[in-house]
Amino acid sequence: MRQKLVDTITAKGIKNENVRAAIGKIPRHLFMDSSFLDHAYQDKAFPIAAEQTISQPYTVAFQTELLALEKGHKVLEIGTGSGYQCAVLCELGAKVYSIERQKELFKKTSNFLPKLGYRPKKLIFGDGYKGLPEEAPFDSIIVTAGAPFVPKPLLAQLKVDGRLVIPIGNETQTMTLFIRKSPKEFVKQEFGDFRFVPMLENKA
Ligand code: SAH
Repeated sequence: MRQKLVDTITAKGIKNENVRAAIGKIPRHLFMDSSFLDHAYQDKAFPIAAEQTISQPYTVAFQTELLALEKGHKVLEIGTGSGYQCAVLCELGAKVYSIERQKELFKKTSNFLPKLGYRPKKLIFGDGYKGLPEEAPFDSIIVTAGAPFVPKPLLAQLKVDGRLVIPIGNETQTMTLFIRKSPKEFVKQEFGDFRFVPMLENKA
């Protein structure tokens, strides 16, 4: 079933071999509530706890590809959720810091990931709009909730040559990549429309 899922995301345009291998390896069904087990290897988003969703595998792969990860990269994720995207980043050899604002999900995922052998550097309960200044700068930052605007602290916490991948918009979001070219200069590229649960502010 996982191989079929890899074939599906490949057909949709995912080229990076390491990203495909990670999707082919991670047991996505274990990240989902039991009522959705039958659907775990469909290329669809599904509900997890606290009215949140586990992202569609294609979306996870697409965002991960845009990060241009190398082993040992320091990566910040906003929106830990089920931990699936975090597991993909760990699988690719990144040092992962991930922030979640829902207490229930934060606790559940903090317990769960090590059981599967995934050890992010740090899972944080808090508000991702602020980023994680004490661990900055990052090689890349990935936002996995729909952001109404680009939080300035996230741009500020990138290394030069670092990448921020963030879906921007309200109803639907445009996948957007920022690359920091110098301390003051960013280039921006857009990659089509996606749908995420909203990135909420100051309610952790
Ligand atoms: N990466 C997750 C996707 C979860 S959906 C996965 O692979 O399963 C998006 C998550 O972002 C939700 O869990 C939601 O609670 C969280 N979120 C929303 N706004 C946030 C914020 N300001 N800071 C941190 N997390 C936030």
